[in-house]
Amino acid sequence: MLALLAGAGCDHASTSVDDFAAQRERMVKEQIAMRGVTEEKVLAAMRKVPREEFVPEEFRAASYDDRPLPIGYDQTISQPFIVAFMTDALRPQAGDRVLEIGTGSGYQAAILAELVAEVYSIEIIEPLAKTAEATLQRLAYKNVHVKAGDGYKGWPEHAPFDCIIVTCAPDHVPKPLVEQLREGGRMIVPVGPLGNQDLYLLEKENGELRQRAVSPVRFVPMTGEAAERK
Ligand code: SAH
Repeated sequence: MLALLAGAGCDHASTSVDDFAAQRERMVKEQIAMRGVTEEKVLAAMRKVPREEFVPEEFRAASYDDRPLPIGYDQTISQPFIVAFMTDALRPQAGDRVLEIGTGSGYQAAILAELVAEVYSIEIIEPLAKTAEATLQRLAYKNVHVKAGDGYKGWPEHAPFDCIIVTCAPDHVPKPLVEQLREGGRMIVPVGPLGNQDLYLLEKENGELRQRAVSPVRFVPMTGEAAERK
């Protein structure tokens, strides 16, 4: 009887929410954990954030596919595995303040918001920044701050940051971002021309920057000042 009553209140929307939840579980298991991202708190964040809310209506059914999806303006929401991999590489801590360059849909920012204290995210395409901000507000992420602008210069008013994540690819690491990384901080950034980029993990220790390439990747180019300085 209870089930029937509950069922009576259900519409198609809530049915698909259940479907999405099941798909999200499977995504975490098959696309992420099985490929080696095993940090439980990262997996918990990936299990929690509804990716379908960050995907345009026409691609919603593909929200949990193992690939990036278009979000308009020739940009994409990243493949779930890449989001998890980059998040894990940053070793986010509960009290951290994180800077993201390339808000896009806002999905990566939401994942980080589950794990750290504050997320500052910059998006160069203003309508994307607006949409991402609205989505994050609708989902009640109060610890994400979105700004429309060129992320090359970072966000000095809120520096230094414990972690910096760059989700578009410059051909060199922007100097202002290195300067805004706290001592002991971690930065993950794809560097290189379209079709030939490597993801670098940079760590600031005793005032020195250690860097290592962790994986070949494919991101959209960083536009704005990064492109002009080629
Ligand atoms: N993190 C996003 C995906 C990013 S796609 C998500 O979770 O959905 C890369 C984004 O970087 C695009 O939206 C692009 O417009 C943005 N971008 C490119 N150059 C930029 C710059 N100089 N400053 C800020 N954002 C930039």
